[in-house]
Amino acid sequence: MKQYDFVLIGCGLFNSVLAERISNILNKSVLIIEKRDHIGGNCYSEIDKNTGIEFHMYGTHIFHTSIKRVISYINKFAKFNSYRHQVLSSYQNKIYQMPFNLETINSFYKKNFSPDDARKYMKEIIQKDSFQNPKNLEEKAINMVGKELYEAFIKNYTSKQWGKKPIDLPSSIINRIPVRFSYNEDYFNNCEIQGIPIDGYKKLFDNLLLNKKIKIILNTDYLKIKENKFKPKYYTIYSGPLDRLYNYKYGKLEWRSLLFKKKILRKNDFQGTSVINFSDIEKKYTRIHEPKHLHPERKKIFNSNKTLIIYEFPTQDNSNPYYPINTLENRRLHRRYKILAAKQKNFLIGGRLADYAYYDMDMTISAALKLFDRISKKITRAL
Ligand code: UDP
Repeated sequence: MKQYDFVLIGCGLFNSVLAERISNILNKSVLIIEKRDHIGGNCYSEIDKNTGIEFHMYGTHIFHTSIKRVISYINKFAKFNSYRHQVLSSYQNKIYQMPFNLETINSFYKKNFSPDDARKYMKEIIQKDSFQNPKNLEEKAINMVGKELYEAFIKNYTSKQWGKKPIDLPSSIINRIPVRFSYNEDYFNNCEIQGIPIDGYKKLFDNLLLNKKIKIILNTDYLKIKENKFKPKYYTIYSGPLDRLYNYKYGKLEWRSLLFKKKILRKNDFQGTSVINFSDIEKKYTRIHEPKHLHPERKKIFNSNKTLIIYEFPTQDNSNPYYPINTLENRRLHRRYKILAAKQKNFLIGGRLADYAYYDMDMTISAALKLFDRISKKITRAL
């Protein structure tokens, strides 16, 4: 059997970037072993046959970044459309803007504040219940937006999303949500680039994995293969969860998973936007996605009298991990597994699952490029 220079486990964003760099820059061969029946990991997109609408199989993914190196890298493999992400949140059957901005505050409190008025008003409200040293998500969120907005938009949404009470979650999660005192509703307004790959995520991955030195085996679980079957000349790079890799030796890492239910409707537009969050506890789903809004430039499909909507339900399914539940205990457990991985010879790890980290796509690319730098130095030194 052919010996490859590198064996990469998992064909998500992290390993796809590494495979591209290793094959194109180092001119080395790469074997990728992927459990699923497709490339691209959770970024994967597909065309719905019935409507022609491209949808993101694992939830809406908006590419956004300000990392210079990532911008110049990704532009070689994809062009982005001019989509700007806006999120709305449904609370008691009324739609509000998210992230929290002047429109959210005015609409929720039935006011007509100027930015200065709103700042003053919110400061007073927050002071009533604020925490000196916020220890968890609930305390941090109350410090950010006050108790009422927290209870309306964060408390229940977060409990549904994570399957845990906000007091049992780390405050870092809520740092992802901005609070603004302007009418700016552009979710990623501080990012230099933002958009959806014009030809879809699937095509972006096809472009990354184009080199003939890359061989991909799908539908194959690396952990069920005899250990030495694919021993590379240089490194094995593993991008799956570490607890599974080591047969849950120290216990299971907690993950939050998602389940998606698709529905086709005979109408042009269901909700007028790509994503609406649902913060009421009675609604079991957290989001409805309407993917045609991600590609307004695809005019024929955008204007057609059919639409696809996708309900997002958070679930506890460790076999299909999405979000690491970053509690102190889980982080400690992950560290123990990481020590095991560090002891393995010619073995490297990375990506959202192996790092047990809540990475956005740009952070994943950046991490892959950094690991490539290290590999490249070692290999060129050894040659
Ligand atoms: N969140 C919330 N209400 C919302 C949106 C987000 O409470 O309407 C909280 C929730 O805990 C969520 C976190 O903020 O997990 C981060 O949200 P984000 O939209 O960034 O999550 P992602 O897109 O990664 O699923």
